[in-house]
Amino acid sequence: MNFHIMTLFPDMVMNGLSTSIIGRAVNQGYLSIEAINIRDYAFNKHQSVDDYPYGGGAGMLMQAEPVYQAYEHIASKLSKKPRVVYLSPQGKTFSQKMAEEFAKEEDLVLLCGHYEGIDERVLEEIVTDYVSIGDYVLTGGELPAMVMIDAISRLIPGVLHNDVSAEFETFQDYLLEYPQYSRPEEWHGKKVPSVLLSGHHANIDKWRREQSIVRTRKARPDLLKKCIEQGLLSKKELQFLKELEENSTKNT
Ligand code: SAM
Repeated sequence: MNFHIMTLFPDMVMNGLSTSIIGRAVNQGYLSIEAINIRDYAFNKHQSVDDYPYGGGAGMLMQAEPVYQAYEHIASKLSKKPRVVYLSPQGKTFSQKMAEEFAKEEDLVLLCGHYEGIDERVLEEIVTDYVSIGDYVLTGGELPAMVMIDAISRLIPGVLHNDVSAEFETFQDYLLEYPQYSRPEEWHGKKVPSVLLSGHHANIDKWRREQSIVRTRKARPDLLKKCIEQGLLSKKELQFLKELEENSTKNT
């Protein structure tokens, strides 16, 4: 998969994405990441890319033409029109489901705004998706672009060495992941649950699934509701949940 990031701060994104798992995946050729400096497409001698908004108001706005030219430069190298994501607090909230959907693309363009945002006319012309990483306002789209790239990349085959680790994870089936333990067997007086040491895979799977249900019920009842609505719990798991509910009512 190829990521093309349109930004005024290429070093920020390239430095952030050149280490650890994503950096290794790039070096091994599973991904490519390029940052296109929008400032290189400024059309005045001062290389400025922002101006005052018509109608007044605080702050500056990124102008349409440099953004458009930077986009044209990327699009001219591709065989088909790419999806272009504008990172914006006004967008649809990013989720694991969206990451899975974007991971199917060959090329993805990420447009990072700065200052008060970008002239609406170029957004209308090139943007296919508006994505927010949460209900708060950041100074720029660079961190959100990095968040998206990280979440999407780990779904690309080969990026995680152990491919199964992306298989059952938090948000799979609308459930949060079960608790995990590593050596030693006892730490600060706390023991690893004995079922995990039993070597009995069916029991381990059952315990993990139940722990996922317990956790999701406690921390994200909204997700558990979706999980039930989609029919993703077995009869036995629904019974387990019922008993959990009954026990918690008894204890209150
Ligand atoms: N004036 C804009 C508004 O009220 O919608 C906010 C502009 S913000 C200060 C500057 C840039 O940061 C945006 O153009 C966008 O690219 C990025 N940004 C800020 N918060 C974001 C968020 N929650 N998710 C994605 N991008 C965000």
